[in-house]
Amino acid sequence: MTAVGWGFDVHAFGGLGPLVLAGVVIDPDRGLVGTSDADAVAHAVSDALLGAAALGDLGEFFPSHDPQWAGADSMMLLADVFDRFAGTGLRVAHLDVTVVAQWVRIAPHRLEMRRRLASALQIEVESVSVKATTTDGLGFVGRDEGLASVAVVTADRH
Ligand SMILES: [Zn+2]
Repeated sequence: MTAVGWGFDVHAFGGLGPLVLAGVVIDPDRGLVGTSDADAVAHAVSDALLGAAALGDLGEFFPSHDPQWAGADSMMLLADVFDRFAGTGLRVAHLDVTVVAQWVRIAPHRLEMRRRLASALQIEVESVSVKATTTDGLGFVGRDEGLASVAVVTADRH
């Protein structure tokens, strides 16, 4: 049986920084606003895992209004979600991530992001894709007010 999970996350710029995506520091001086470290990639991937396993959504497990998660390392939250996902008997076949941002440059960090995500999902780096796109100047992304991330997980039953 194959399952597909889709995740989406948005955070606004305005945090002190650093900007962290997939656990990798992308920009030390400019961050995203969030209760946790606002790692939009880790959050989208977590939601995709939960979707593939039909376990609910990230907000159920880690409510953003809960001060317990203040400054939390989202790759640790992803590890927790992965354990729940794996506990249902699923394993990841492939992960495809897209970062939607106007100015953030992903290319220099792509391989490290893929490595971190592959490690978290216990798959080979070749099975993890990290892409980037802009919105051609349109909307909140185009105005550089925030950043979005989309993730699609394909998973198989053992
Ligand atoms: Zn988030």
